[in-house]
Amino acid sequence: MLTNSLVELDRRHLVHPVSSFHGHEARGVRVLRSARGATVTDSEGRELIDGFAGLWCVNAGYGHESVIEAAATQMRDLPYATGYFDLGAEAPIRLAAELAERAPGDLDHVYFCLGGSDAVDSSIRFIRYYWHARGQPERDQFISVAQGYHGSTSAGAGLTALPVFHEGFGVPYDWQHKIPSHYAYRNPVGPDDAAIISASVAALRARAEEIGPERVAAFYVEPIQGSGGVLVPPKGWIKAMRDACTELGILFVADEVITAFGRTGPLFACEYEGIVPDLMTVAKGLTSGYVPMGAVLMSEHVYQTIAEGAGPRAVGHGFTYSAHPVSAAVALEVLKLYEGGLLDNGRRQGARLQQGLAALADHPLVGDVRGRGMLAAVELVTDKEKKTPLPAALDAATRLFDRAWEQGLILRSFAQGVLGYAPPLCCTDAEIDRIVERTRKVLDLTLEDPEIREVL
Ligand code: PMP
Repeated sequence: MLTNSLVELDRRHLVHPVSSFHGHEARGVRVLRSARGATVTDSEGRELIDGFAGLWCVNAGYGHESVIEAAATQMRDLPYATGYFDLGAEAPIRLAAELAERAPGDLDHVYFCLGGSDAVDSSIRFIRYYWHARGQPERDQFISVAQGYHGSTSAGAGLTALPVFHEGFGVPYDWQHKIPSHYAYRNPVGPDDAAIISASVAALRARAEEIGPERVAAFYVEPIQGSGGVLVPPKGWIKAMRDACTELGILFVADEVITAFGRTGPLFACEYEGIVPDLMTVAKGLTSGYVPMGAVLMSEHVYQTIAEGAGPRAVGHGFTYSAHPVSAAVALEVLKLYEGGLLDNGRRQGARLQQGLAALADHPLVGDVRGRGMLAAVELVTDKEKKTPLPAALDAATRLFDRAWEQGLILRSFAQGVLGYAPPLCCTDAEIDRIVERTRKVLDLTLEDPEIREVL
């Protein structure tokens, strides 16, 4: 009864992100009521394993009392403090110091915002300011990677390379350029690591040459492309791209909104190849989704150049909720949980997840299994040899999501028939095994689907 009235109210009033408005009205909302560990319970009392940690953000898992306490204490003591007018609060100061200590290289200066999109947007503004301060304001062109995702604010959506974020929105802007993805399974240069790496380096150089090398401000990458379908670059790719940016004299930005905070094993995915970006964006796992927060980490030279360029003038970029003390208090507590065992558990369970999913490769519908740590994808095809994607007309994303839901599993299901996994780092062996078993069941049921049978 309660559920029915909520569905109706939702239908009438709540606009859902990245959804077909009318499609959503027709399907109706599924209301989630509570969660513990890696399990969520819906309004009907049905329990599901959250194989996607909310929206790849609840890395620590649900229901940590110490996090709840940290938020409550901070709210009681000081629920808000602005960072304007030389003011501040203890929690964001301590959090900035903790992040600077752990981040690669000299990414020692932290600007806090509200999530990933405004972290990306803030980084674009800081980069423009940086080149202005260096006396090269003509460096106003940005390059990112096809299939990449960098948020949904206007500037970030233009760096994003997924059509649904562009069509009808007037982006990308003419200062935003793309190079092809490393997508190994469907790469025109083939699956060979070295060939993919040299093709990407050549594409970046060619694009910069075309734009005019003295016009390029920065190059953005995700260490593993998330929303594009969990595309893992070959080992050596990110280092080669970092080196190419250094040679080209352009800033290298690692968008670690998904990959940071243990998602791929280490605290930051850049550690995997030991690279140091000029700027890094983070969000999601920073607070494990308990409250909103994102951040831009700047290297020493970026920060000092901006500072010197501004001199006594204010660097005019800020939000009411920059460095929110409650979010920072939560992030500090979440960081303790990561280092108190969750990172280790995530690494163990990540290996178990990758192994379990790899064993699904023999299924007739599975074309590719890929991932690292607690981040993975299974790509479905109707013909393994030809790598034929599921027919677009079948709305595979909704079908697969629904089928997984019926099996008690929440997954991300991408439009092109790719299942995405990003379970909380707190998962047990049994939960990881259940994610894999339920996926096999989803695949078997999909194989029996008459409309799928028809195209096999
Ligand atoms: N960058 C990347 C790499 C992301 O994956 C996302 C979100 N999925 C964003 C930016 C935007 O973050 P948010 O949704 O918190 O605005």
